[in-house]
Amino acid sequence: MTPFQLKESSMSTPGDSSHRKLVKTRIIATMGPACEDTDTIRNLIVEGVDIFRFNFAHGQHEWLGDILERIREVSAELKTPVAVLGDLSGPKIRLGEIPGGEVMCTEGTTVQFVRQPFDDNPANLTCTYEKLIDDVDLGDRILLADGTVGLLVTGKADDNNSVSCLVVEPGVIRSRQGVNLPGVKLSTPSITDKDKADLSWALDNGLNFIGLSFVRSAGDITELKELITAHNPEVVPVVVAKIEKTEAIAELESILEVTDAVMVARGDLGVEAEISRVPILQKEIITRCNAARIPVITATQMLDSMTQNDLPTRAEVSDVANAVIDGTDAVMLSGETAIGEHPASVVRMMQKIADEAEPFVSTLKGRRSHEFRRANPVTEAVTLGATVIAEELDADLIVIPTETGRTALALSGLRGKVPILAVTHDQALARKLCLYWGVTCVESKLVRQSADALLQFVVQWGLDNGILKTGNKIVVVGHANWIGGGGHDLLMVHEVP
Ligand code: PEP
Repeated sequence: MTPFQLKESSMSTPGDSSHRKLVKTRIIATMGPACEDTDTIRNLIVEGVDIFRFNFAHGQHEWLGDILERIREVSAELKTPVAVLGDLSGPKIRLGEIPGGEVMCTEGTTVQFVRQPFDDNPANLTCTYEKLIDDVDLGDRILLADGTVGLLVTGKADDNNSVSCLVVEPGVIRSRQGVNLPGVKLSTPSITDKDKADLSWALDNGLNFIGLSFVRSAGDITELKELITAHNPEVVPVVVAKIEKTEAIAELESILEVTDAVMVARGDLGVEAEISRVPILQKEIITRCNAARIPVITATQMLDSMTQNDLPTRAEVSDVANAVIDGTDAVMLSGETAIGEHPASVVRMMQKIADEAEPFVSTLKGRRSHEFRRANPVTEAVTLGATVIAEELDADLIVIPTETGRTALALSGLRGKVPILAVTHDQALARKLCLYWGVTCVESKLVRQSADALLQFVVQWGLDNGILKTGNKIVVVGHANWIGGGGHDLLMVHEVP
């Protein structure tokens, strides 16, 4: 089979809510007023959303709590595991209130950052980060409004209560827009008091993924993990390091040692680094995540024009396809679903683009297992064997009974051609598997019964969902104790009767 052909049984059936689909690239949709109602949540899941993102920069806990309940109801109704990612804002700096709401920064004029506004002059700016005036030096750049307006620090007042800045990139700025200080060493903690309150809510409500914005070093992730374990060591979500600062790129190796997953947060990355470097940084981060077998999400402006329009631009379509071919595990939608005019169509479009690109994803089967953190040599060998055997037999499904997700991660990381079905009794694990490339997950109570019971369940599930038919081959791989065996790993080949 060439990459230009898709196997019939692995093709998705968009819009069909009665059937589960086999997944490869995962889709994350940011929650917002445009998709908060039950029907839209259902449509989004049917079209391919695996994870909803709650952006704590917007949205009160009470509102998010109601939405969470709806997501869980729909997920149970559709028998489809769906996860929720809580995205902590981190030390995001925002402008304070501007008298009149906005001001034009004209090239060559001077504006000031002041500790306290002392008059109604809109050129006297304040921000949410108290130490900005202490942390910047002459010659530093300050970028406002998503990097569209650029300032150069030209002077500090003797009383250290203001800095003056020359406008070098003109434009309009509005109250509460973002402030970026590329290359400036900030003395602010990476996890703010607001983040701690949001984290505590996220953990109390069983969110499955926690993202941290503006990560600067591995220590930020370690600190987040310590807070999580101190809250409840029994319920530990997957931690996602958002890479959007140049410091984080410089520290990527050590961040990958401690994080569970990564997000290429291209919005702020395109402000903190030169915007022209974003595609290359994206490729570099994805390659390094693949090499370390850390699931990676590509985020921001993927189908931005669909926030208003019915169709994306050709450039956006290419962007999504290229992220998939780069090796991303997941692609993320932000405003497109949160405040967009047609959230379900955006997800359908993203799924279609991913379906087209997936046959061109390079296999990673040639990688040596010792490259991976916490690699277990037996798991590495049997998953590689299962992938090779499944491809050799032109099998339709690799089935893995899983209790920890380790086998699922190893199989996913190989980027094999045959779709993977993970079967687990653990609902929290099923939700975590929503980020793994190529792993469809189904919940079943058939834990530690028999191989026959497992096979019967999988075959029936496959037939019911139009995924399997008589004569199809299934490769089952996993730890034998899951199906009532001893402490060894096994691999079975089964033909659907
Ligand atoms: C980003 O900057 O790309 C991002 C995903 O973060 P946020 O949406 O929180 O700005």
